[in-house]
Amino acid sequence: MADKIREGNRRSLARAITLAESIRDDHQQSAQQLLTNLLPDTGKSIRIGISGTPGVGKSTFIEAFGRFLTEAGHKVAVLTIDPSSKRTGGSILGDKTRMEELSRDPNAFIRPSPSGGSLGGVARRTREAMLLCEAAGFDVILVETVGVGQSETTVADMVDIFLLLLAPAGGDELQGIKRGVMELADVIVINKADGELVPVARRAAAEYKGAVGLMRLKSKHWTPKVLMASALKKIGIEELWETIGEYRIARSEDNELESQREEQAAAWMWAELGETLMNRLKEHEQVAASIDQMETDVKAGKVSPTTGAKELLAVFLGK
Ligand code: GDP
Repeated sequence: MADKIREGNRRSLARAITLAESIRDDHQQSAQQLLTNLLPDTGKSIRIGISGTPGVGKSTFIEAFGRFLTEAGHKVAVLTIDPSSKRTGGSILGDKTRMEELSRDPNAFIRPSPSGGSLGGVARRTREAMLLCEAAGFDVILVETVGVGQSETTVADMVDIFLLLLAPAGGDELQGIKRGVMELADVIVINKADGELVPVARRAAAEYKGAVGLMRLKSKHWTPKVLMASALKKIGIEELWETIGEYRIARSEDNELESQREEQAAAWMWAELGETLMNRLKEHEQVAASIDQMETDVKAGKVSPTTGAKELLAVFLGK
């Protein structure tokens, strides 16, 4: 399977991602073996996060951007993080057919969000899918998310560059964007800058340029850029790609991008460790037997939260 993935075999890639998404222990073991085998072949892509509220034009934009990239000879993988997505429905990104043209493009690979589970779980599976796509030779990875809860931070924590798509309208309150999300953006793209919306888009761009000037900078070498684009009319797509190129050059100073990836990998390990430990703790027979009572006692003020935690930990560790 590893060899087939290295050759760029799409069916094997899809099967490997399914394996990594499975919660069965034997599947997990095989997936981890596969990932270990392929690890030397990963990391050679640019990882791009794309976020925006529903209706801002994410799928239209990814379709246009993706097609631009494949026409320029790139291999593009599109992964999605949608923690609300479950097999039974209720997904925000929706069941509508998205990115129709791109999904037929032999140099593009589109994978919807793994279904169900915690955001942490969805994130882990998306990270693994990203590595598998890289091993299969995809050199541009787009990780898309809809602006819900913590999902933007989760995406920002696994990519090299984070794009925030905004509508041509003023004020982030108006657009339901949290300050924290603005601060994650390396590039802000005002989409729908076409037709009658051009003047509104210009005003929005000027406003966000002003706002960026007041933001805390993530990097010594990069100040977030504000661009205008039209996914529908395919305007501003090439300029965005050039900006991403400038970003890579700017952040190769002091090896910033490389350090960012190193930090992300370490943080991933710690998150994995935290989640696994917490699951083990909750599954521990004696802990499970006393955890509800302890919570009741803590709520009632009979036991202090610290003591409660210490006692449960002592049960877990068998002390
Ligand atoms: P998503 O929910 O963020 O994925 O948004 P969609 O890509 O589904 O787009 C939502 C609506 O906005 C659709 O009706 C699109 O045709 C429209 N739209 C997307 N991009 C543009 C654009 O650049 N200009 C204009 N005028 N409309 C756009």
